[in-house]
Amino acid sequence: MDLYEYQGKQLFAHAGIPVSEGRLATTPDEARAAAEELGGAVVVKAQVLTGGRGKAGGVKLADDAADAEAKAREILGLDINGHVVRRLWVERASDIAKEYYLSITFDRGAKKPLYMLTTEGGVEIEQVAEEQPDALARLHADPLEGFQPYQARRLIYGAGIDDPGEQKQILAIIEKLYACFVETDAMLTEINPLIVTPDGDVRALDSKFTVDDSALYRHPEIAEMRDVAAADPQEQLAREKGVTYVKLEGEVGILGNGAGLSMSTVDVVVVAGGRPANFCDLGGGGDAQGVVDALEVITSDDQVRSIFFNIFGGITRGDEVARGILAALEQMSIELPIVIRLDGTNADEGRRILAEAAPPNLYVEPTMLEAAQRAVELAS
Ligand code: GDP
Ligand code: MN
Repeated sequence: MDLYEYQGKQLFAHAGIPVSEGRLATTPDEARAAAEELGGAVVVKAQVLTGGRGKAGGVKLADDAADAEAKAREILGLDINGHVVRRLWVERASDIAKEYYLSITFDRGAKKPLYMLTTEGGVEIEQVAEEQPDALARLHADPLEGFQPYQARRLIYGAGIDDPGEQKQILAIIEKLYACFVETDAMLTEINPLIVTPDGDVRALDSKFTVDDSALYRHPEIAEMRDVAAADPQEQLAREKGVTYVKLEGEVGILGNGAGLSMSTVDVVVVAGGRPANFCDLGGGGDAQGVVDALEVITSDDQVRSIFFNIFGGITRGDEVARGILAALEQMSIELPIVIRLDGTNADEGRRILAEAAPPNLYVEPTMLEAAQRAVELAS
């Protein structure tokens, strides 16, 4: 689960990492009131779950409260990479002398948290990694040993930070960020930029925070931070119906029984020259209600042009799944073409049942590749 900048900053502040004082606003009036309370110059920041807000015009400095109201009016409603701005964070403006970057991510390959620190902050970290790899200090933490000051020092020297005042503050921030990362079961905590003010104070000016979904049950206060209104409508519907579903970019709706098969189905659609619209796993069963729920979620995405239903009969036999599909199609009307590949236990019987009762928009193909090709063709 991704958090908004202001939510991440709340967790940072809780961990003792210095951040600027700010207020949440959802209207220009609220932005003005927030700026009045804070006093002086403020920065008005779009709260959206995507990066690059600055470049997209979603971060603006305001001289006073009236200006904050005007800037809020400009930013609210902006579309930033497909995310519409509905919330603003108004915080006391900072003077910036330097912009650094600090993050901790979970490195699955190494099975360890990874620290990254560079003085080349403010820009995309991928760009730094590509253009100036030597400027990026990287170091793994040992999850059993936890935070070690010598590691933080090595990281700081590796990044070439030689001012003693900065070193001291950044060492403390790394320690607190590590504690925050572990305590919240985070997958990513990123500060970009980590600024140094002209007075030499180090502070987190932005936050990117991802918490492991599987650990949310341990953090009800973080789970509550989810902005239901901003969630993808299909993913929200899927969550309500208990369907395992991930929205993708393409036009071929995908449904498989089992996570592995569903993933292979995504791949084979790409091999056939198409673009999957989603990943959807029906699980091991093939009962009519499960099929209805999954098809409702898939067809609620108006980008979907065809549906590829990939079934392998195992413990759930092919004929049962075929009956489930037919029962589902009786309960709902779907105009889109549906391509079915049915194989495995009792596949012949399943295909016969489908062929006998099949509505005209149902296509039964013998192999996975042929079914994918047909679904891609019908989608274009
Ligand atoms: P992002 O573009 O989504 O990463 O949003 P950030 O929160 O990182 O802001 C983008 C940029 O805006 C920062 O790198 C800063 O250069 C600038 N910025 C943000 N807050 C302030 C501020 O308080 N004062 C000044 N002078 N610039 C700021
Ligand atoms: Mn940033």
